Amino acid sequence: MELGVGCADIRPERDASGAVTRWITTLDDGSTIASRYLVIGTGRDANVPDVLAGLPESRVVHSTATSRRGRPVEAASLPGRPGRQLAERRGDVPGAARGPARQRGGVGDALGGLTADQSSKFTNELYYPSYVDEFFDFPADGRQLVLKELYKTNYSCITPAMLQSLYTDFYLDRLGRRDDRRLITMTDITAAREQDGEVILELTDRRTGEVTELRRDLVFLGTGFAWRTPRLIRALADAAGLAEVAVTRRYRLVLPEPSAAVCYLQGVNEATHGIGDSLLSVLARRAHDIVLDILEHRTADATSVPSRDVTVHTGSAR
Ligand SMILES: Cc1cc2nc3c(=O)[nH]c(=O)nc-3n(C[C@H](O)[C@H](O)[C@H](O)COP(=O)(O)OP(=O)(O)OC[C@H]3O[C@@H](n4cnc5c(N)ncnc54)[C@H](O)[C@@H]3O)c2cc1C
Repeated sequence: MELGVGCADIRPERDASGAVTRWITTLDDGSTIASRYLVIGTGRDANVPDVLAGLPESRVVHSTATSRRGRPVEAASLPGRPGRQLAERRGDVPGAARGPARQRGGVGDALGGLTADQSSKFTNELYYPSYVDEFFDFPADGRQLVLKELYKTNYSCITPAMLQSLYTDFYLDRLGRRDDRRLITMTDITAAREQDGEVILELTDRRTGEVTELRRDLVFLGTGFAWRTPRLIRALADAAGLAEVAVTRRYRLVLPEPSAAVCYLQGVNEATHGIGDSLLSVLARRAHDIVLDILEHRTADATSVPSRDVTVHTGSAR
């Protein structure tokens, strides 16, 4: 096992008949690992809105990088005013509401700024590992319907307790006549540029169309994750000649021909395995399913399709 090293690329190695015999994984340091059984659990790619993609990397911090870059970013001596000024684009997560910044502005597109999650004991059951079987067997339209219904139980929302705490913060600010923290609602960031050592965000009010500017040193993004198949898996699919990325009920990547090498995808199968797929809810049972599948594959003829679990639904890649 290699820890702390990025994986740059994965390619299939085939025998004369075209069957995949091994996966060759190239790490960032150039070394390679050959494996017959490969499990990919790298999460989804960060979603950076197009409008912000042109800003220098040093000015934009996605929530996935906050823990890695939070301290260095605060310690960095940025040009411009002595006080740090931060803008948070709030989407799926509340973002960094506290910190040493002198000026903070939270920009969001929802009416009330932030919304509470809609989970309950009833919806929680749809996160159970036992629901995966039921969900997997629905037709694609049915699965999409369920996911749409469950969206606000997991995405673009926060717990009522967190909401209360944030509201209290803003209320106390108002009492203390502090205006260094703002929540800007129903507003889109429609342009962004770096100029004179600061980031200038163009904000468009959805209700009035009014365009204003917000000047900040850093932009923190709580914009969630890209739905499309992550880059690493797309590259693997291209190298394997797959027209689409699909997995079996036991998370095995579907290859067009029987193969001696097998690859499993974790955390990117919400469309076929349900709302709990990217969460911790199904983690232990998923590992169990994958281990069983590996054992079954190992005991079967390496070049024949295993007898069970060949049901495939497409649409895991969005
Ligand atoms: C704000 C937020 C709140 C959440 N709350 C909950 C919750 O309450 N309950 C819950 O169950 N889940 C929650 N989740 C989801 C939670 O993050 C996942 O359940 C969990 O992290 C999934 O673990 P994972 O190992 O599959 O993927 P990840 O935690 O995403 O880990 C993937 C790892 O792969 C690494 N990686 C990526 N690309 C490469 C590469 N090319 N080479 C090498 N390594 C790479 C990444 O650095 C990362 O360490 C939350 C997520 C967010 C963002």
